Amino acid sequence: TSNVTTARDNAPLIPQVKNIIAIASGKGGVGKSTCSSNLAVALAQTGAKVGLIDADISGPSLPTMFNVEGEQPAVKQENGKNIIIPIEQYGVKLMSIGFLTPADSAVVWRGPMASSALRQFIADVEWGELDYLLIDLPPGTSDIHLTMVQTIPVTGAVIVTTPQKVAIADATKGLTMFQQPQIKVPILGVVENMAYFTPEELPDNKYYLFGKEGGQKLSAKFDVPFLGEIPIVQSIRESGDSGYPAVFKEGVTQVAFQALAENLAR
Ligand code: ADP
Repeated sequence: TSNVTTARDNAPLIPQVKNIIAIASGKGGVGKSTCSSNLAVALAQTGAKVGLIDADISGPSLPTMFNVEGEQPAVKQENGKNIIIPIEQYGVKLMSIGFLTPADSAVVWRGPMASSALRQFIADVEWGELDYLLIDLPPGTSDIHLTMVQTIPVTGAVIVTTPQKVAIADATKGLTMFQQPQIKVPILGVVENMAYFTPEELPDNKYYLFGKEGGQKLSAKFDVPFLGEIPIVQSIRESGDSGYPAVFKEGVTQVAFQALAENLAR
């Protein structure tokens, strides 16, 4: 995926960033932020330089997932301009709308405000050289998404979905939004999250709680890569809450997230 040029004709906002990857889901709660944060750490584990922007205005969760809640990024002056220094954790440079708004506040973001905040997160942050800048978009396919995606030079998009019918229907809307003629962002792949559940006492059994292979079928239908499936694991939820990404813990989960990173980098 390196150095893919976008169809966008606006000048590069940050030429020292090789790939800007939008992570989207049609539906909320499918694990977009969980996948974004673990994918970012997994990419960093391969030696890549990685940044992650939490643009989820509906409920920024990256500060919690990276255990940097309440931290405030430093700001410096450069040629009369404010430059924000991203917060670095687990080898990933982070910016979140959550760093700028008080915790527990219900900020009502309007489209233009949200996309100008996102643009600022890209242009006015000291990212340095990056191989990947991942953007955790808000769930949905509203005007906000269109504006956000049109505001920034996105290299490609990753769609996160569960195998469930309603999630797939919404993911399809997300996917086709990126493929619209005025957007034309290449789809880098589909991630199927919460693909199955395996109880500890029955390690050879897979229970397809949300249906089977919905994400795989979606990628086949649109002829886009399938990046991998992530099972439902209690420790994935726990690690999100405790701020220590699941990809650090050896086992099935680590293998699954590292496979996503490998397939994306391919
Ligand atoms: P989204 O960003 O799509 O709204 P989140 O990443 O916040 O979704 O995930 C929603 C909830 O589901 C969180 O509580 C998260 O910890 C949990 N979760 C996400 N993926 C998994 C998984 N594979 N296994 C277990 N829990 C998960």
